[in-house]
Amino acid sequence: APALDVAGIRAQFPILERQVHGHPLIYFDNAATSQTPLAVIDTFRDYYSRYNANIHRGLHTLADEATAAYEATRDTVRAFLGAAERREIVFTRGTTEAINLVAHSWGRANLKEGDEVLVSLLEHHSNIVPWQLLAGQLGIVVKVIPVDERGVLDLDAYRALFTERTKLVAVNHVSNAFGTVNPVREMATVAHERGALILIDGAQAAPHQKIDVREIDADFYAFSGHKVYGPTGAGVLYGKAELLEAMPPWQGGGEMIKSVSFDVPTIFADVPHKFEAGTPAIAEVIALGVALDWVADVGIERIGAWEAALLQQATDAVSRIDGLRILGTAPDKAGVLSFVVEGAHSQDIALLIDQLGVAIRTGNHCAQPLLAHFGVTATCRASFAVYNTLEEVEIFTAALERVIGMVR
Ligand code: PMP
Repeated sequence: APALDVAGIRAQFPILERQVHGHPLIYFDNAATSQTPLAVIDTFRDYYSRYNANIHRGLHTLADEATAAYEATRDTVRAFLGAAERREIVFTRGTTEAINLVAHSWGRANLKEGDEVLVSLLEHHSNIVPWQLLAGQLGIVVKVIPVDERGVLDLDAYRALFTERTKLVAVNHVSNAFGTVNPVREMATVAHERGALILIDGAQAAPHQKIDVREIDADFYAFSGHKVYGPTGAGVLYGKAELLEAMPPWQGGGEMIKSVSFDVPTIFADVPHKFEAGTPAIAEVIALGVALDWVADVGIERIGAWEAALLQQATDAVSRIDGLRILGTAPDKAGVLSFVVEGAHSQDIALLIDQLGVAIRTGNHCAQPLLAHFGVTATCRASFAVYNTLEEVEIFTAALERVIGMVR
């Protein structure tokens, strides 16, 4: 395969031309949200200039065009995830809504008091709190898969957590806080052997590696468009067809019914429409399709390989900084470098490095239990995307050293 043309890629991202506080922007907050290429940005102008219409109910040209484009993204996502059927793809606002959909619909229909859901210590709050809400409402029990000192899930402990009451494993594919890549295929096999389902939060995996839900044998898989070079407001829940078929709707309204009556029971639409009540984020979903096409054009394997090179160089460079501790040292990591510095508050580092044009994130990364386990309340996190360069990593490292010198 030809080498990645990073300059050519960067030219497609207008935001990368920005200056921040008089410095060229170095955007290392890609795990929070990635930037969008022109092809995605242009989709909005095109949609609102030419065929803005509500979908699925029109019998007019604009409605047909909007519906076709919206539904075309479903095919694109099906291929992106390696799913068998397009009806297994449900559009949501993002990963959070996808997980909440499963909790509300599948959870309420299938879980009873005393049933157990396993989550991992590496989870984002969006894959913890929906299950805690169900614990409060239904009396289910949420159990936690522990991690070792590298931030790697303890698979022996995972196996030992199962009981005959275990109904679901909810785990991320890649940790947003540490970058750990979890062995979800193996975890799915274990879950299925024990009669449980597995829901995988793929928010941080989708931008970095090839996903194949059938190879993993995922029952549910969620991701967000805005972390894969797409817009906010559009995300995906994949669910196996037979599971989605059996699940009740979670929101009622237009678009999700076949017939509504006060006299006989209302009949719901077939999947996936049963789970897409109301007018969706039409332009966003169409733009998500454009983003995934863009990713496919660049090549997800090449994107992952380039980010691995960036991560390696950044890890080597910051490791030389006195008093800097990297959190998350798993052998298999994607795109994320989390660290704390002795004698320097993470927030001060992030604020000062922003003055030099470098955008990194500080805070708990919506993973408070994980950070508490490692004895910190916040880390600095640099996270990479395909348009980042080794030169940016060098500038970042120098800026970091300078900033640490200022605050210590
Ligand atoms: N899970 C993980 C691992 C994430 O990184 C994120 C976003 N930070 C989410 C879930 C939530 O995604 P969203 O806010 O797009 O719903």
